[in-house]
Amino acid sequence: MKLEQFPPDLQPYLVPAPGGALAYRCLGCERIFAIDRLLYTCPRCGEVLLIVDQAFERLTRLPPETWRRIFDYRKMLPQASLRGIYRYHEFIGPVLPLEHVVYLGEGHTPMIAASGVLQEFVGMSFYFKNEGQNPSASFKDRGMASAFSYLNHLMASGRLRDVLAVCASTGDTSAAAALYAAYLQPRIKSAVLLPHGKVTPQQLSQPLGSGARVFEIPGVFDDCMKVVEHLSEHFPVALLNSKNPWRILGQESYSYEIAQDFEYDLTDKVIVVPIGNAGNITAILNGFLKFRAIGIITELPKIIGVQSRHANPVYRYYRQPEGSRRVFAPVDVQPSVAQAAMIGNPVSMPRVIHLVKRYNQQSGRSNVYFVDVREQEIMDWQLIANRHGHIACTHGGECLAGLMAARQAGHIRTNEVAVLDATAHALKFSGFQDMYFQNRIPDEYEVVPKAELMNAPVLIRPDSLEAVPEPGRPLSGEPLERFVRQTASAIAVALGLETPRQA
Ligand SMILES: *Cc1c(COP(=O)(O)O)cnc(C)c1O
Ligand SMILES: [Zn+2]
Repeated sequence: MKLEQFPPDLQPYLVPAPGGALAYRCLGCERIFAIDRLLYTCPRCGEVLLIVDQAFERLTRLPPETWRRIFDYRKMLPQASLRGIYRYHEFIGPVLPLEHVVYLGEGHTPMIAASGVLQEFVGMSFYFKNEGQNPSASFKDRGMASAFSYLNHLMASGRLRDVLAVCASTGDTSAAAALYAAYLQPRIKSAVLLPHGKVTPQQLSQPLGSGARVFEIPGVFDDCMKVVEHLSEHFPVALLNSKNPWRILGQESYSYEIAQDFEYDLTDKVIVVPIGNAGNITAILNGFLKFRAIGIITELPKIIGVQSRHANPVYRYYRQPEGSRRVFAPVDVQPSVAQAAMIGNPVSMPRVIHLVKRYNQQSGRSNVYFVDVREQEIMDWQLIANRHGHIACTHGGECLAGLMAARQAGHIRTNEVAVLDATAHALKFSGFQDMYFQNRIPDEYEVVPKAELMNAPVLIRPDSLEAVPEPGRPLSGEPLERFVRQTASAIAVALGLETPRQA
């Protein structure tokens, strides 16, 4: 639709011009730093940062109803830069001119109602939001679109040149960073650090295919993170981990989309999200808080953070009900099928602590809960979900296991409606499914396959056949007919099909 065909009162707002007054704000000493450079931690006290808009109040000049209409009408604009996370430009990166936005098809992932049978089985209404349908097949693309648009902007305005983007990763961050960097070749190159043997073959193939320099190092993600932090403190590189607050801004789009998909009514909604480095839950909390501050939503949905019992430092922190007695302690992680969340010392923990407090205050009640789940539950629920037509990865399974745990703990009422974050595509983690189906999951995962959830291909090759077709050596005539007849009847026997009665 052409701009002049939109309602006249909205036309001035549909294509946003740069605005706002973004700044880095330290969560430790609360100092403010200028946005026109790359900053990951406070130069004064070393604490993590969030990006704030010091002119945020200007957004109240439009009534909430106008904002809702702006976002709804923007769906119909044929402009690539507003197709993804920047539909919410004023909330995500208002200082960016649209011509510097990098769009690779991220965002606006579908919210799929759980199959009727599955909802009945689980006992409540819920959706999966399929983040695996992002370009590199995980939600990390949202944050990368934001971080790389900003890098692109810094380069286009002459404040930065020849960027080397680096990140540590449990697999998906590097896949996303390498993809966006490859798109901005040759001005941006990328290097990724992975814990050796701790990412899936599919995840490893992604940065390799995008042409990134890939380094595997001993240890787990937390060790990789230390190395990459050292690199970013001592060398001229751009850090693309969620320590980079631009990543958080982009990932806030997840909340805005859910709000829009529910027509901005989040009464009785529950958002279930797996936690690893805690960037995602940080963004989700902040996103809902920002929409609520402007009145675009009036109700803050309930948030359930889920962790595996093999990597549960956030859950452990909040297990202590008394706020003043909580102490954060990193944990040594055990192997987890929710491998992208296998993190013992989440970088965003200070952000979580800060935002959970505000979220509960703004909600006027406890509105953020944490649960931990067993590896067995994660695997079983993933397989059950996918047997009902979903494409959840192990972390999507973790969310469903978390939903059950949260109900058991009394955090959720059955009349509430949940949205589960299927953070990546099932195919990225199919190796765990293979191991489950072949009953060869290493003991340390503590997962025992259930026979009723296993599946395996059956080779059909009737003994009575002398000849079978092979590539380049097709059968024809009578041998082909015999092959077809006997193979079909072997399959019919296997399926228990009856021969139709002759007329
Ligand atoms: C990164 C990731 C997570 C964890 O998200 P955090 O922001 O690190 O908490 C969960 N699932 C998948 C598939 C991921 O890639
Ligand atoms: Zn500080």
